[in-house]
Amino acid sequence: MATLTLVRGDITDQRVDAIVNAANSSLLGGGGVDGAIHRRGGPEILAECRALRASHYGRGLPTGKAVATTAGRLEAKWVIHTVGPVYQVSGGDEALLASCYRESLRVADVFGARTVAFPAISAGAYGWPMEVAARIAVETVRAAETEVEEIRFVLFDEQAYAAFAAQLR
Ligand code: ADP
Repeated sequence: MATLTLVRGDITDQRVDAIVNAANSSLLGGGGVDGAIHRRGGPEILAECRALRASHYGRGLPTGKAVATTAGRLEAKWVIHTVGPVYQVSGGDEALLASCYRESLRVADVFGARTVAFPAISAGAYGWPMEVAARIAVETVRAAETEVEEIRFVLFDEQAYAAFAAQLR
């Protein structure tokens, strides 16, 4: 079973095998975590995302799915892009948010990543209440069968950190 750890900080600073991106279905960049990853990781990541759009994901990456690219200049081997549900649009569909964590870990296993950093998917621009997002994140990774050894949640602010810490207790 993977060890769950919590860090308050910036996900682009993490030295892990794979960093999970709270992407949007276009895979072509956005704000929040997505913007930070592309800024720090450099153009190689976007180039691979464009190639994915030109091949497998012509209509974009569906909500709840995950796909890996290079991590470019980040201190990681891969970025795993996943698309969380928008809270209002999905009606708070918990299964879709859980799918993001499960699918990201599945992709991590395919690539052989042993350490994976996750942000609080869908808890920013996509509008999920932090407490709910944290509960689903922790429940889902705890229940997942994976070869990943460390699952690190990287929370940007004190409120997010506290919400995840409450779930780990
Ligand atoms: P989404 O669109 O899935 O809601 P966001 O990127 O808007 O994703 O936000 C998800 C969470 O990540 C929010 O809690 C936000 O504060 C946090 N966040 C934003 N930038 C970073 C970063 N560089 N590292 C870690 N967490 C971040």
